[in-house]
Amino acid sequence: MLCLGIESTAHTFACSVIKYSDYEKYPNILSDVRDSFKAADGSGIHPREAARHHASVAIKVLKQSLESSKIKYKDLDIVAYSAGPGLGPCLRIGAVIARSISSFYDKKLIPINHALGHIELGMSLTGGVDSLVLLVSGGHTMILVFNNRRWRVIGETLDITLGQLLDQFGRHLGLASPCGSEIERLANKSSKNYISLPYSIKGNDVTFSGILSAAKRLISTNKYRYEDMCYSIQETAFAMITEAVERALSSTEKRELLVVGGVSANKELSHMLNLACLRHKVKFNSCPISFAGDNGVQIAWTGILSYLKSKLFVDIPNSFVNQSWRVDSVDVLWRN
Ligand code: AMP
Ligand code: MG
Repeated sequence: MLCLGIESTAHTFACSVIKYSDYEKYPNILSDVRDSFKAADGSGIHPREAARHHASVAIKVLKQSLESSKIKYKDLDIVAYSAGPGLGPCLRIGAVIARSISSFYDKKLIPINHALGHIELGMSLTGGVDSLVLLVSGGHTMILVFNNRRWRVIGETLDITLGQLLDQFGRHLGLASPCGSEIERLANKSSKNYISLPYSIKGNDVTFSGILSAAKRLISTNKYRYEDMCYSIQETAFAMITEAVERALSSTEKRELLVVGGVSANKELSHMLNLACLRHKVKFNSCPISFAGDNGVQIAWTGILSYLKSKLFVDIPNSFVNQSWRVDSVDVLWRN
């Protein structure tokens, strides 16, 4: 069985072809092609500009994906696309391309929840069985646990996400979005001069906007080095999310933690989570760094799982995009 996955929720347009044979637990990735929108320094992702980028690179990315897989459109069985959550204009580009291929070549069409894609690919690549999941990306900061057919959210941000905190502060410094890896590079150059920032955790939930406001205010006084502020933001925000994860580990008694999403690429975050897992005698899994950020593989793989176990395909008139599609509203019939 061959599935084409199309990702277009935010900055990245990506396509991947995955081959699946019975009883395989892991994706056999035939291709993984990505092209990301680059914002100007100090600017964020403007949805219409990112959508224009996606439209301009879509055919090239699609062609490369099929060519490197050595397959033709007619060989495909399924076309899966990211249907949300994400930026409306960007989602529509991926959906239009998926619908066109599906209708022209008569292939099954499956809308995939992007967050579910991060989780399911991370579970498969790390061999996770019954993990507590931390999803940290541009669009999400959530702690999830699987129960009764769905990934249930047991902790989340009450305002901006961890990725937004890093991106918005980075833009304030004049960096181009997404800024997480550059913030990490600057933080690594700090002599660990910690600047006190608001630490706010409410049960298993966290809030990051206080850190952002304080960091912006303090940096404008010109009394602090960028490196020290980036270090302090990371230390404060990562300690908060680690504390929330520790609470969730205690209450759920899960024996595995999996971290997925673009921010999971950060080494300091992994280090803190790993220490928490050692304290709780829990196995720590992190999505391989090359699949931490948005990609087509997460969509193709979840497309295969959805098709095999749920038959969640749709016809063209019922295909949709949903900018605020919550992961905890999706039935996941392939998990017990
Ligand atoms: P995603 O939406 O899953 O592609 O994740 C994108 C988010 O990950 C953006 O907010 C990036 O700034 C963030 N990100 C990427 N690499 C890193 C890193 N090394 N450290 C922290 N955040 C990162
Ligand atoms: Mg993502």
